Amino acid sequence: MQKPEWLKVRLLNEDLNRMEAFLKSMSLNTVCQSANCPNMGECFARKTATFMIMGNICTRNCRFCAVEKGHPQPLDENEPRRIAEAAQKLGLKHVVVTCVTRDDLPDGGASHFAKTIYELKKLPGVTVEVLVSDFMGKEESIAQVVEAKPDIINHNVETVPRLYPNVRPKADYLRSLNLLKKSNELDTYILTKSGIMVGLGETEEEVIQVMKDLRSVDCDMMTIGQYLRPSAKHIEVAEYVTPQQFKRYEEIGYELGFKYVASGPLVRSSYHADEGLKVTKA
Ligand code: SF4
Ligand code: SF4
Repeated sequence: MQKPEWLKVRLLNEDLNRMEAFLKSMSLNTVCQSANCPNMGECFARKTATFMIMGNICTRNCRFCAVEKGHPQPLDENEPRRIAEAAQKLGLKHVVVTCVTRDDLPDGGASHFAKTIYELKKLPGVTVEVLVSDFMGKEESIAQVVEAKPDIINHNVETVPRLYPNVRPKADYLRSLNLLKKSNELDTYILTKSGIMVGLGETEEEVIQVMKDLRSVDCDMMTIGQYLRPSAKHIEVAEYVTPQQFKRYEEIGYELGFKYVASGPLVRSSYHADEGLKVTKA
């Protein structure tokens, strides 16, 4: 299927090369690179990036995702400190940190996440958003992350539940919803956020139901973006959703009570993430 005009983006090679060289010098991974994000040119030019901690090899097998799958490396204990150092050198004000899913670790990597948040929180004026895995539903792991007090806890449900077996075979829709619910219960001040990709074969009714489900667990913010196939090995695009339909989802999202909705063909979980901070929990 041919990409429509609204998905064609210009890559700013100079910014891209400079940022890539910097990240390499710091031995850090970004999801921007691992997921081949179409916004890299724009985000790197704005000096924003989403750090990916705990390596770049994932223990899950989501069929939409470009991240390498397999057996991850042991954790690098110095990584949390290096992330903070990189954030400081880049002059970041809002730092987004995500991870590969580490089902091989007893706590799913929650303590490493917490250490990274604590290191970043030492930087004056810096806000932190974490995009976490589901920690296999372990409540102690969720609690560890919540206790470190990030500003936003983000966990993507990714698609509508009907498509999980094909799109996200090792995940569980209710487990993901429960993570957001638990975060809200444990700390009523931390904002919660989730997101989905569209264009995988879902219907409008199903998307609206996901929004309602997210609101039922008090999720504050939502992102909706077009699924783009990273390679021929990945699941096919079923549809290129029009900008008008994205706008409609945004309007419905606000009607349902989300405090912030980003919905558009190129929207990703971390696209213009700092804009979400304009809202407050109260
Ligand atoms: Fe990176 Fe997110 Fe920007 Fe994509 S949208 S380039 S993942 S910061
Ligand atoms: Fe990719 Fe996350 Fe799925 Fe791992 S769990 S394959 S990083 S989407």
